[in-house]
Amino acid sequence: MASRPPIPDSSRTSSQREIARIAEMRSVHAAFTYLHNQEMEFRRWQRELTEIPSPPFGEAARSEWLRLKFAALGLEDVQVDELGNVLGLLSREPAASLIGVSAHLDTVFPHGTALKTREEGSRLYGPGISDNAAGVTALLAMATVLKRAGFKFATNIVFIGNVGEEGEGNLRGMRHLFSTPKWRDTIQSLLVIDGAGTDTYVNQALGSRRFEITFRGPGGHSWSDFGVPNPIVLLSRALAHFSEVLVPESPRTTFNVGVISGGTSVNSIPESATARVDLRSASMEELQKLEDRLRECVAEAWSEVPLSHRAGEPKITLALESIGDRPAAELPADARILKIVRAVDKHLRIESFPRLASTDANVPLSLGIEATTIGAGGDGGGAHTLREWFDCTQRDLGLKRILLVLLALTGVHE
Ligand SMILES: [Zn+2]
Repeated sequence: MASRPPIPDSSRTSSQREIARIAEMRSVHAAFTYLHNQEMEFRRWQRELTEIPSPPFGEAARSEWLRLKFAALGLEDVQVDELGNVLGLLSREPAASLIGVSAHLDTVFPHGTALKTREEGSRLYGPGISDNAAGVTALLAMATVLKRAGFKFATNIVFIGNVGEEGEGNLRGMRHLFSTPKWRDTIQSLLVIDGAGTDTYVNQALGSRRFEITFRGPGGHSWSDFGVPNPIVLLSRALAHFSEVLVPESPRTTFNVGVISGGTSVNSIPESATARVDLRSASMEELQKLEDRLRECVAEAWSEVPLSHRAGEPKITLALESIGDRPAAELPADARILKIVRAVDKHLRIESFPRLASTDANVPLSLGIEATTIGAGGDGGGAHTLREWFDCTQRDLGLKRILLVLLALTGVHE
């Protein structure tokens, strides 16, 4: 990645002047000091959270943890919705518009995973400690500091701990939130906190579609039933055709066959064969082309089955089922939230880069609502593994960054 050339001071934008004004406020200085002094408390939250299991579709215990914290802080209208999203409001005026800040509660780790954490110097270890216990900790830190300080906002703020970001969760938490008129029609922009770091911001939502393909047949004995169409062979043909598809480098478009299963023994014609395929692109158009190609390849393999087996008995069947769909979208270059993040980064002397990624921001972005995803500060690694770690050293910087972005979004004044 190439670094952006520094912008000369003479060309300071109005966003930069605005950030400089906010950063000079006495209450902002006080908030920075508070965040710095709370580091040990943040570590406790982060380790506590990490040790609460939160697999996809099993986030309830973590939702309850966050609900209690929001309630103890005195946020208004604290609630857990039907899916397990936790919401709490900081409002100044009932009718004011709304800025959202969110962090996902779910992890990739299934029930039964050992979730022990440990601390060595500035490093915390544990599955999910960075993605996204660090994000939820930052969310709670923001709620705490903004509730304490006497800021005057032009808008209200909703703090959101959402479910269903990872893998098969398929962004269900965000989707549900933004299909609810109460939130969809009032949230002007959303700041998503996900994982560690301060060096990136998401300006493009990576779209993905996932499919499960299954061929089924009567199966049989490898010797006596020879000639009965074989689902594994049909599936293999479809995948072999598909693997030859040419995808553009720009907009970057990719595909993967990630899981394959079927069959029982070497001397049986299998009754079924299944594969899971993941398609990704920065462009909705390319994503659609790739899906069309996948469907063609599968249909082609099926068409090679003799007509007698497609129509009559014993019947061969084919199912192509969607198991994931994340919209692709892009922030306009002049989006307010982008100007703010860039101005904050310049103010804090952070060298950051725009990123193409699949995050909770995909959902508002696909609806034309400004959103971006940034890290919780610090540093992290080993995401989605049992060796995951988070280094707290630069957490401060990340929290200052998030706070300044939020304050600018809300149009804060002393
Ligand atoms: Zn995450």
